[in-house]
This record gives sequence, C-alpha cells and structure tokens, in this order.
Amino acid sequence: MLKFDESARIIASESRYVSGGVNSNFRLGMGHGPLVFTHGQGPYLFDVDGNRIIDYYCGMGAMVLGHSPAGVLQAVKDQVEKGILYAGQSPVEYEAARIICERIPSAERLRFGSSGSEVAQAAMRLARAATGRRTVVKFEGHYHGWFDNILWSTAPALADAGPGDDPVLVSGSKGQPREDSDGLDVLQWNDLAAVEARLSRGDVAAVLMEAAMCNQGAIAPMPGYLEGVQAACRKYGTILIFDEVITGFRLGGQGAQGRFDVTPDLSIFAKAIANGFPVAAIVGRADLMDMFATGGVLHGGTFNSQPVTMAAMIATQKALTPEHYEKSSAYGVRLRNGMRDALAEAGVRAQVTGFELMFHVAFGMDAPARNYRNLAGSDKAGYARFAKALLSRGVRVLERGAWFVSSEHDDDVVDQTLEAVRAAAKEVAPT
Ligand code: PMP
Repeated sequence: MLKFDESARIIASESRYVSGGVNSNFRLGMGHGPLVFTHGQGPYLFDVDGNRIIDYYCGMGAMVLGHSPAGVLQAVKDQVEKGILYAGQSPVEYEAARIICERIPSAERLRFGSSGSEVAQAAMRLARAATGRRTVVKFEGHYHGWFDNILWSTAPALADAGPGDDPVLVSGSKGQPREDSDGLDVLQWNDLAAVEARLSRGDVAAVLMEAAMCNQGAIAPMPGYLEGVQAACRKYGTILIFDEVITGFRLGGQGAQGRFDVTPDLSIFAKAIANGFPVAAIVGRADLMDMFATGGVLHGGTFNSQPVTMAAMIATQKALTPEHYEKSSAYGVRLRNGMRDALAEAGVRAQVTGFELMFHVAFGMDAPARNYRNLAGSDKAGYARFAKALLSRGVRVLERGAWFVSSEHDDDVVDQTLEAVRAAAKEVAPT
C-alpha cells in the first residue's frame, strides 16, 4: 500500500504561504489529502513520497495525450526561444485559429482566452448584447466556472434546490451576492418541455449547457433533446451556447456538437484544446463573434493567445487524429467494461456511464442517471472510500466519480488499473 506522508507534511508546512496548501479549491478534500507531485510521464504521475501513480485526473480532463507528449513539448521549446508575450499578433495564433475553425462545426470565427471560466463570461456577454435580453438559462449540476454570476446550482444539496419542475438557484460559495443570480434561471437538464416552456416567455438571452453533462456524472443527452433545445432557441430568438470545456476534443475531434450533430450558435472550449496549457476559446457564428470587433462588446485578456500556449495547441491538435481517437477509445472502452465487470463481481451496486475517454462511476445506483437529481442519490461516501482504496494501490481517480483516459493509458496500464480496481472493490464491497 502506498504512503503519502511526505505530501501531507509538505501541504501542512506550505499552508503557511499557500491557503490550504493548494491553488484551487477543487484540489482540497481528497481521501489522502492533496498530493505533491514532482513530475509526470505518459499515464503516470510521480509524487514526493516516491510513488508512481496511474493518473485518471489527466489534468482535470485536459491531458488527452497524457503527461509528456513529445510533439507538444518540442513545439513549446521551439516557441519559447522566440519570446514570451508580444501583446500583439503572431502567426501561431492564426494557425491555431484556422485549425479550430476547420475542425469545430460551430466555429465560423473565434477568440482565444486563458480559462474556461472567462470564455464562459464572454459567451454570456455576447448573447446578452446580441439579444438585448438579460436572462441566461442554465441547468442543475452543470458548471461553467467559478465567477459570481454563474456559480449557481452546480452541485446543490437537494434540500435547498426546490421542486424538480421549478428548481431554485443555489449559490456555490459564500460571498456570492444574491443579486448576481438575477440574470440566471435554472432548470433540470434533459427535460425538453421545461426548456420550451421557459423560452416561450420570450425573455431568455441564452441557454447555456454542457451538451453532455460531465461535471456531475457522464450523462448523454436524451435522443432529440439537443435538437429540440436548438429548435426552441431558434423559435424564441435565444442564443444556444454549448460549454465544451470537458467534452471538447474528448467526445471526439469535433466535441459533443460533432458527436451529437447539433451545431450551437456559440461554444466554449478549454482543457484538452492544448493538452494542459492554459488556452480557452469562444467560437461561433460570425455575426455574433464580430460583435467583439465592431459591435461594442468588449473582450480582453493580457495572456490571450500567448504564443507558447498557441504552439502547444497547434501541436496538440495535430496529434488529435482519427487514429488517436481510435486507439485511445479502445483503451477507454476496455477499462470501462472491465470496471463494470469487476464491480459486479465484487457485489458493488454501481452504474458506469459515459463515453470512451471520459466516463463516470456512481455507486449505489440501479439505473443510469438522466439528470443531476438522479445522480444526487448515489452513494458518494462509498465511492470516496473506493477512490481512496485505489489511490493506496497507485491509481488516482477523482472522488466525484469521473475517469479521464488518455492515449497513454494503453492495454498494460488498463490491466494494472483493473487489478487495482478488483482489489479496491473487494475492500469496499458490502460484506
Ligand atoms: N466549464 C466546464 C464544463 C468545466 O468543466 C470547467 C472546469 N472544470 C469550466 C467551465 C471552467 O474552466 P476553467 O477551470 O478553465 O476556468
């Protein structure tokens, strides 16, 4: 069993300088406490205790190519020699833009940013400017960044969330002014009638959603749902925004919009777009996107299109070939199926749902979840024990049940993982 004593010691001592020892709240609260890593290689992370750990966080989903893709590293080294930040344009950003626009169905034009949270803001601002309306409709369990005007109902306690057919907005953090939710409405996802009814009031600027729900669970849209939402948006003059920060380049080369064949008006990407380098993009209809240039809608950012990140992005995108998806999907499917079998054999009641390169394991469920409220009934404490048992065996997974797979998680790594899964499942199974 692996030990994490040195990580614990460092976190405790460095908390003197860094609040909680971490630089994102999402790194707190893990079973063994936050870990401190020295380096990553392929599918592995190496920590200060000398452990080699198979990593299924994959940079919170960013690292579709694993921890050290040679082409990306070389591109970064070459570019950094040429300077750091021009505060002007450079050929690399245009090449990067061309690649995304040729690849993503909704991308007639784009703007780059540095994080998913900020391009979500840009998308909402654009939709409000284009429609002259204020309300953005979001969905329970969907996350679009940590800013005050959108961090609502991302993982609400059901006791606070109101009735399912008329949910109320629940804040995600202390310090969020209640009036910052005035421009939002929340609905349950995967319920087309609810969207149609809300949009028919004619005051909604945008519908903003993860086109497959991946922050909580890994839930596909019901057949016809995305098409129906799109039709309702068109009927009532509402902008449809897909948040593809997780799904982009993970549910296939064209993201959820390509996979489900529904083209939104705007969409946002981050995470896997540059395999872990801080790049985000807002893409969409030319008439909307041109409002940044000529329509009085402001979009800024000192670090936007930073050349090193652009070079990383180009190299990442070049590696995301059909062969890449075929190969890594085969690993993901093997792992997902093996997981299902291992949990069943150990007598653990669980649902394994989702996609090839991103799936979710929910304990204590007899049927797959269709929305946040179904999922909220899962056995989270039981899964957290499983995640801890896995980490002790050298496999690192998110406690919320998400598994991110990369092209480096080959058959050998999947075998090692499944061995750990079988042992961990036995450890936590009801006796
Ligand atoms: N949207 C989604 C769907 C996300 O998963 C995330 C990050 N987990 C964000 C937006 C925010 O992205 P970032 O952390 O880069 O600000």
